Amino acid sequence: MSTKLENPSKELKLTAPLSGPLVKLENVPDPVFAQKMVGDGISIDPTSNVLLSPCTGNITQVHPSHHAVTIMTKLGVEVMIHIGIDTVSLKGAGFTPKVSEGETVKPGDELIEFDMDYIATNAKSVLTQIIVTNSEHVKFEYSEGIVKAGKDVVLNLCLKDNKTEQANSNSKFEPVVSKPITIGNPTGLHARPSAMLSHCAKKFCSEIEIVCGDKKGNAKSTTAVMKMEVGNGESVIITARGEDANKAVEELTELICNGLGEDVVSADTISECLISEEKSNTPKSDNPNELLGIAASPGIAIGNVLRLKKEVLIVEEYGSDDSSVEEEILTNAITKTIDSLKGIIENSDSDESEIFEAHIELLDDPELIAIAKGEIAKGKSAGYAWQKAYTQQVSSLASLKNELLAGRANDMRDIGERTLRTIIGIETKQTDIPENTILIAEDLTPSQTATLDRSKVLGFCTVQGGASSHVAILARSFDIPAIAGIEERIMEIADGTPIIINGATGLAEINPSEERINKVKDELLKAKAKKDDALKNCSKPAITVDGHQVKIVGNAGGLEEIEQSAKLGGEGIGLLRSEFIFQNRSSAPNEDEQAKVYSSMAKTLGPERPLVIRTLDVGGDKPLPYLPIPKEENPFLGERGIRVCLDRPKILRTQFRAILNASKHGTIEVMFPMISSLEEFRNAKNILAEECEALDVPMVKTGIMVEVPVVAAMAEQFAKEVDFFSVGTNDLAQYTMAVDRGHPKLARLADGLTPGLLKLIAMATDAAHKYGKTISVCGGIASDTQAVPILIGLGIDKLSVTVPAIPTIKAQIRELSLEQCKQIADKALKQESAQGVRELVDATCLNK
Ligand code: PEP
Ligand code: MG
Repeated sequence: MSTKLENPSKELKLTAPLSGPLVKLENVPDPVFAQKMVGDGISIDPTSNVLLSPCTGNITQVHPSHHAVTIMTKLGVEVMIHIGIDTVSLKGAGFTPKVSEGETVKPGDELIEFDMDYIATNAKSVLTQIIVTNSEHVKFEYSEGIVKAGKDVVLNLCLKDNKTEQANSNSKFEPVVSKPITIGNPTGLHARPSAMLSHCAKKFCSEIEIVCGDKKGNAKSTTAVMKMEVGNGESVIITARGEDANKAVEELTELICNGLGEDVVSADTISECLISEEKSNTPKSDNPNELLGIAASPGIAIGNVLRLKKEVLIVEEYGSDDSSVEEEILTNAITKTIDSLKGIIENSDSDESEIFEAHIELLDDPELIAIAKGEIAKGKSAGYAWQKAYTQQVSSLASLKNELLAGRANDMRDIGERTLRTIIGIETKQTDIPENTILIAEDLTPSQTATLDRSKVLGFCTVQGGASSHVAILARSFDIPAIAGIEERIMEIADGTPIIINGATGLAEINPSEERINKVKDELLKAKAKKDDALKNCSKPAITVDGHQVKIVGNAGGLEEIEQSAKLGGEGIGLLRSEFIFQNRSSAPNEDEQAKVYSSMAKTLGPERPLVIRTLDVGGDKPLPYLPIPKEENPFLGERGIRVCLDRPKILRTQFRAILNASKHGTIEVMFPMISSLEEFRNAKNILAEECEALDVPMVKTGIMVEVPVVAAMAEQFAKEVDFFSVGTNDLAQYTMAVDRGHPKLARLADGLTPGLLKLIAMATDAAHKYGKTISVCGGIASDTQAVPILIGLGIDKLSVTVPAIPTIKAQIRELSLEQCKQIADKALKQESAQGVRELVDATCLNK
């Protein structure tokens, strides 16, 4: 479909599709339409209920929810008519389509009939929008007053000459491909998020496509995106080709991940959703000396209150008479701000630099600069114009429904103020900060947070913000305890008041007694000593007090984590998620590339520390752009893990050869993911054996993930043939509990400590030991201190844990006894719920 108008200097009249008074698009109560993100046009407050075609053309889309229809005219004008606001959520109720895609219509033909009363009572509004989606090539004359359906003209379109052909200059660039992005929008990419996406895509000169399985469309066209009917939970990829392709992919990926202006409900954002809920439901404390907020950055800090007051920046409305002088002032200030941000980025860690890189992107926004330049053109000073531009952006961001995007308003304010200071020549006022300060502020900007004197500021609380704000991310990366969204009365607490903040619970205690302060100090010292001690002793083995050794190995996705694991006392890698090497690229890594990576990993570990490489585990929640899997109703129950590779043995053979090549540099073992039958294991092992023979190298140890319940139930049969088991409790829990592990509401039901799941682990352990095989756990519960005693008690030989947890899990085991663990495991199997198991562990061994 082309969005380019082919015939210049032509006129097209659109007749009223409905009767009723005309409403300017700007007045429609939906920013996507009002801000013309979908395109320019007009709205009608309908008094009739049969939508008529406003022109001659082809029906290119009837939205699946039947509330919108798109017509492509012969002249290449794309007209979309959208009945009502937020009507996609009605899922078709109240609408009867009268045409289907591909049909040709002429003015006055019936398109959709709708139930006015139903829509009026169930949707936000019945206002119906007539939009030209490729309006950049059209000059509009808008009609006014009341129109009669099929008779009066609502829009007179004059088609402009299209000079801005991008030619085929983009074709000389290599395409840039995003990582797969799961759509979290509850109703998928309908009009609003599609408009947001194409609005952003239009900023780039690259050709940009959005791909979803076998469907693809031009990301700059709202209709093209909508037509793909991408649903919630589906995965899309952005591909861009051109000068600014990298930036386009980066920005669009972030935008999609953040929900394109809507609340997202995907797995990735569960915590964010919970945070949003948390924020609106943040409880208030009845105790005048306690204040509640959102846990933003863990840790406890004891200090004294210092309130940070908001500084008001005053700017003159008028500057010099010469607008080019003001423009230059503005341009110089923006350049200076970008330079200073680059300076911060150079000296910061990845979290911090990502945030300030995003700030540079925000500053580089043509819309923002256009608003400011527009004001300057009206004779305003650079400072005034800039303040107007960024505050306008701040308020439109803040009004977004999506908490995450709304949170970016603070970033916009940050860069806005930073630049404004440069324009008016004011340095940031340095507050005199005493020792042991807990900073209290209405809100902090990322810049303020990054420049806090960390020798004096021990923690902070803000009234605004949430756990996902950039300020919270910075606090976590600086390891400063922080509470966000705290009760407003905190701003009334006098400077110097003693305060304890707990950034893990969101509780601030005002005026604590001396006794309380001493107790907290004591606990902090003990916890720190324990952590330091675990780190100091991380190279010691994990042997229980009664002499039972448990091997502690790490889960890794790349070389960096493997190096870290070795430093922290990891006795090998129990799970290399090899898919990380395959992700974020446009084609699969070849044998040499893989061999290089595996070899450096094996060398880093040396022969004493085994490296268990799990073969490519994709499908389900982990799609790959170059390995398309046809759309499935239940991807977690479909082509996933070993099933994908057995179906494409070339991929498996390449990976095997790379592994076998690297095996001379260390001790490498191979593990197959998501095995559900002996046949699958035998097939995979046979292919490996064939490759060993071809390369004339010895066979390596082969094991399987226990992730599908049937494997635990048939563990004896498997144990006879495999060299080892590794229990993937993340998947085992989802398949045992019939709960999607990423489900926003239900995921917590898939707790790995559910007694039924422990029983499966016990069965697999007994079977492994009966046949002299080892068994490890590499799922999330291996790093869970409440699960560790039980897993040891059940007889697990090895725990493959997240790398940072290695020292603490080792230290924990050194304090346990095998006998005690066996007793707890025994009791755990008899509990009624995961909660019961957790309480049992707390009562028996964690509250000592
Ligand atoms: C598991 O399922 O527990 C596991 C370790 O595999 P992944 O989380 O990579 O699916
Ligand atoms: Mg798994």
